[in-house]
Amino acid sequence: MALQTERIRAICFDLDGTLADTDDLWVARFSRTFHPLRFLFPRSNPAPTARRMVMGIHHPANFILEVLDTLGWDDEITALGRALRRKGEAPGAKLSLIENIPVMLEAHFHHYPMAVVSAREEESTLQFLEKHDLNRYFQAVITAQSCEYTKPRPDPLYLAARRMNVPAENCLMVGDTLADIRCGQAAGAQTVGVLCGFGNESDLRRRGADLILASTAQLASTLLASAAS
Ligand SMILES: [Mg+2]
Repeated sequence: MALQTERIRAICFDLDGTLADTDDLWVARFSRTFHPLRFLFPRSNPAPTARRMVMGIHHPANFILEVLDTLGWDDEITALGRALRRKGEAPGAKLSLIENIPVMLEAHFHHYPMAVVSAREEESTLQFLEKHDLNRYFQAVITAQSCEYTKPRPDPLYLAARRMNVPAENCLMVGDTLADIRCGQAAGAQTVGVLCGFGNESDLRRRGADLILASTAQLASTLLASAAS
């Protein structure tokens, strides 16, 4: 399905794997964990295996989160995570940006209202945005706590659209996983799948993403070039 750029009046961005380099952070953590056993891995390098594990785990992890969200237990899980966190720890601030994200956001800023639509809990979402000075780009920041149900349900996109004062069908949902594509489609929005996070091209394509990009940073050349022509 081809992207209809003339329909787009606002952009919604997922956070993990779309703006934030979350998968690389997890690969580094797994690699560090396996380091004492590195002689067991090909070329004594656990990183490729760690990456396969991270990519393999995200589907079942998303499924479990979706079930908890449907059961209404997501708030309890968030509260438990917060209670177990060491005092003063700011997990959102540990996330690095995917390359060229600020340049891409700056390029869109004067053309489209933008929102974050994330299933991440609110505290660490805000930590990430604050650390990288991204708050000024977004008219709305929607997290797991903003609506009763989070992605892949359409509720968070509907809320972002309302806050940006744009119909949901005129939004573009940009994300790295099937949950983002399903959320966007359920809300009647168009969708872009990006390959800089946890998802893979064949899954995103099969689910019917309107466009696939290697990285979120490429969005500016796609949208602004077509607006100029
Ligand atoms: Mg994501």
